Amino acid sequence: MMQLNETHDPALRSWLASANTGSTDFPIQNLPVGVFRRAGSNEPFRGGVALGDQILDLAAAARADVFQGLAGQATQAGADSTLNALMALGHSVWSAWRLALSRALREGADAEAALKPCLVPQQDAEFAVPARIGDYTDFYTSVHHATNIGRQFRPDNPLLPNYKWVPIGYHGRASSIGVSGQQFHRPLGQTLAPGSSTPVLAPSKRLDIELELGVFIGSGNALGEPIAITEAEDHVFGLCLLNDWSARDLQAWEYQPLGPFLAKNFATTISPWIVTLEALAPFKVAFERPQDDPQPLPYLDSAANRDAGAYDVQLEVLIQTPQMRQAGQPAQSLVQTSYRHAYWTLAQLVAHHTVNGCNLQPGDLLGTGTLSGPTLDQAGALIELTEGGKRPLTLANGETRSYLEDGDTVLLRGRCARAGAARIGFGECAGTVLPARPVR
Ligand code: MN
Repeated sequence: MMQLNETHDPALRSWLASANTGSTDFPIQNLPVGVFRRAGSNEPFRGGVALGDQILDLAAAARADVFQGLAGQATQAGADSTLNALMALGHSVWSAWRLALSRALREGADAEAALKPCLVPQQDAEFAVPARIGDYTDFYTSVHHATNIGRQFRPDNPLLPNYKWVPIGYHGRASSIGVSGQQFHRPLGQTLAPGSSTPVLAPSKRLDIELELGVFIGSGNALGEPIAITEAEDHVFGLCLLNDWSARDLQAWEYQPLGPFLAKNFATTISPWIVTLEALAPFKVAFERPQDDPQPLPYLDSAANRDAGAYDVQLEVLIQTPQMRQAGQPAQSLVQTSYRHAYWTLAQLVAHHTVNGCNLQPGDLLGTGTLSGPTLDQAGALIELTEGGKRPLTLANGETRSYLEDGDTVLLRGRCARAGAARIGFGECAGTVLPARPVR
C-alpha cells in the first residue's frame, strides 16, 4: 500500500509563488502530468508537470539535464509526445521521480535557476490526449447509478443480480477520446419513438453526460498472467476526469443484448492532467460494504483494499448554456459528489479486468462508470437528475434542461481536501455539443 512520505508534507512550499496560494489545484504536493505545447504553434507536443499556473516543460528539463538516475530516465521518457513510455517505467521509477521533482521545485532548491526557464504559462498552452490509448474499458461502479438507471430501463428489475458480485464493464472506443475543449456534433442514430414499431435515423434527443474518473494504466501485465489485487494499485499511473457522453435514446434501443455501442462511442472527453496515485495517497479511505450485501470473492478482497481501497475525490458537474455565455455568466454547478461512494475500488477493477488473463498495457484507460452518490441530487447524469427527462432542471437564469441542447458546455472538476493534507485538484474537463450534421 502507498505510504505517505515527504512529498505529501502540507508545509512544503515551492519557489514558484503561484503554487503556494492554497487555492490552486496544482500545489507542489500534486505534480500531475499531461501533454502540451504552446497554443497555435507547430512545436512538438511533449510532457509537462503542472505547478501553480505554470507547466514544467519536461523536454526542456531533460535538455537542461537537471535530473539524474531514475528521475532523469523518467524526465527523458516524459519529454515524448505521449506519456506511454513514462507510464511503462513502473511504480518505483514514478515514485523516485516524484521525490526528485518535489525536491527540485521546493523553496530554496538549487535547481530553481535551471528549471525556471523550463516553465510555460498554462494559459499559453494547448493540450493533447496524454497517452496513446490502446484500449478503453468503461465500468459501472456506482450502485446508486446502476439502480437509478436500471429503474428507468427495467422498472420491475432495476439492479440485476450479478451487480453485487461482478464489477460490470464493457469495452469502449479509444479513437473518439478527446482532451478537454473537445467539441463534437450531436450524434445521429437509430431511435424508436414511444408507441412506434419502426425506428428512425435521427439526431439524438436525449444527449446526456456521465461524470466519471479515468484510470490510466501504467505498467501492464503479460497475456495470461493476472494482476493480484494486492499488486493492482502499483499498475495504476493515475486518474483524470472523464465525461462519457451518452445518447440515451440510442442506448435504450440498441443496448440489449450486448450493451452500449453507438450511444457511447461518438465522443469521450478527459481532462489534460493525470493526477498520480501517489499524489492521491493522503485521500484514501476505507472501502465499506453494507453488512447485508455479498462480500467480495477472495480475488476481489484484501486487507489493504478494505482498510484504504477507496479514494475521496470530490467531484462536480457544471453547465454553461449559450445564453449564459452570451450574458457573460459563469458555468453553474449542477451536482457535487465523491468517488468514495463507488461500489468497487480501483484495485478491484484492475484485479477483475485481468483475472481471466486479459493483458493491460501502458496507456490503457479504464472509466469508473458514472459516479452517482447515494442521493438523487448527487447523481452524475441528467437521466437521473431529471428522472428520465420528466423533471427538467431549472437553471439560475430561468432556462430549463432535461437533456443537453446544442451549444451547451459541460465542465467537470475534481479536488481532494482534508485536514492535515494539502488541497489538490484535477483542473477541468470541458466539452461542447455542436448541432447535429444533416441526416443523409
Ligand atoms: Mn460510462
